[in-house]
Amino acid sequence: MYNIVLFGPPGAGKGTQSEKLIQKYGLTHLSTGDLFRKHLGEGTELGLLAKKYMNEGHLVPDEVVIGMVEDKISETKDTHGFIFDGFPRTTAQAEALDKMLGNHKMEISGMIALEVPQEILKERIKERGKTSNRVDDQDDAKINTRIKVYLDETLPVADYYSGQNKLTKINGVGKIEEIFAEITSVIDSY
Ligand code: ADP
Repeated sequence: MYNIVLFGPPGAGKGTQSEKLIQKYGLTHLSTGDLFRKHLGEGTELGLLAKKYMNEGHLVPDEVVIGMVEDKISETKDTHGFIFDGFPRTTAQAEALDKMLGNHKMEISGMIALEVPQEILKERIKERGKTSNRVDDQDDAKINTRIKVYLDETLPVADYYSGQNKLTKINGVGKIEEIFAEITSVIDSY
């Protein structure tokens, strides 16, 4: 059983690497961004609530995110573990995740942080914006807001896991396969 937090700024490649990791290890992908976009597409109440935050590049309030993750963990049966992608994004979310996993007799194996310089992030997000249909990918001001929110509110989450000796940093610039190989060697050492 592996429970992995895949961490990094917007555009770091978390989604790309998650897809490969779930195939290799049989893990359940829990991307809060994907879950919100699904709700948005289905026009649920939760989707409507999240929309105004997401489209501006702000964080959805903690209690909303935490409730959604709790539901997903509780309804998932027979898994080899989870890849948390885009969650936790605040220290309060990280504390809540520890509690939730504890209730299910699980714990975080480790956090893997993908490091990518800001200029490359902006290029990648804009490139993705050409095909992603994501409002938050298509405008410089919104991209800058997301990076600022990451630096101010999300980066402290790395310190949280570092304090538990669970943080490994990886260079997120390079070939997808090479980065994947580095991530798998970290996971295999858990
Ligand atoms: P990216 O990593 O490219 O920013 P995500 O798909 O992870 O994209 O997130 C898109 C948006 O969804 C965020 O900007 C935020 O508004 C919302 N969101 C996703 N996860 C969280 C979270 N854990 N806490 C608060 N808001 C979140």
